[in-house]
Amino acid sequence: KGKQSKHLVPQSTVQFAEIGGQERAKNELKEALDFLKHKDQIEQYGIRPLKGVLLTGPPGTGKTLMAKAAANYTNSAFVAASGSQFVEMYVGVGAQRVRDLFKEVKALAEKNGQDSGIIFIDEIDVVGGKRDGQQQREYDQTLNQLLTEMDGIGTSVKPRILIIAATNRKDMLDPALLRPGRFDRHISVDLPDKTAREQILVIHTANKPLASDVSLEQVAQETFGFSGAQLESVANEAAIYAMRDQSEKIEARHFAYAVDKVMLGEKVDREASG
Ligand code: ATP
Repeated sequence: KGKQSKHLVPQSTVQFAEIGGQERAKNELKEALDFLKHKDQIEQYGIRPLKGVLLTGPPGTGKTLMAKAAANYTNSAFVAASGSQFVEMYVGVGAQRVRDLFKEVKALAEKNGQDSGIIFIDEIDVVGGKRDGQQQREYDQTLNQLLTEMDGIGTSVKPRILIIAATNRKDMLDPALLRPGRFDRHISVDLPDKTAREQILVIHTANKPLASDVSLEQVAQETFGFSGAQLESVANEAAIYAMRDQSEKIEARHFAYAVDKVMLGEKVDREASG
């Protein structure tokens, strides 16, 4: 039991509306999800069931949020894992983890009375990357297990399972993963443009007291290249500065500090990693 609960996360309550920007990506994903919702028609027309959706794009752009929103939207059981969790010293452990993941989502769906389940695998490239070297055998078994499980997903099998995977290195993926009937639908989740940045800032300041000199449009203007995760940090850091200042509200200067801090933090990270 202890082992099982490892991948389990609380059932998702994330709504698509809580994801700023990403309109195209959200629409493409919803369209794909309608395959889960209109199961009977899919069967009637003999359409091959959609099994895998690949979300591609830089870190912190909301891929995990999208997967959670997808589970909520389709009332699916939800389990999540990261590719790096499958890497072990012992051959066979990764493959066993894949089996467990599928078992877990099925058990969860059954327990909750849901007829579909979504498995989210972040950093899929760790498992499904093209490579050679020492750990190849272990990775191959893990990848093969994933492919076997995916091939076993049928239209009439209950619960219907959809796998959503995320990567920022699509070019690195093993072609076997991208074949029809596997991850054959790709949705790119890009860095937000200015309008999207403002939307994201609005979302993450909704619970914060903003002074009247704060213009989120202005902040959005000054955060070119920031990801959603970085914008969330900006909102949070600005609030921290305001609190330290004992300022009743968060002012424009707190945002200015926060933008600098997040920008600088990124630079420091980049330098440290070479
Ligand atoms: P990674 O590839 O690093 O796992 P990701 O693309 O999965 O990143 P998330 O984990 O979904 O990114 O985002 C991290 C956090 O950043 C979210 O919990 C949220 O607070 C914020 N965030 C990212 N993108 C958005 C967005 N489009 N709208 C609102 N918040 C966002």
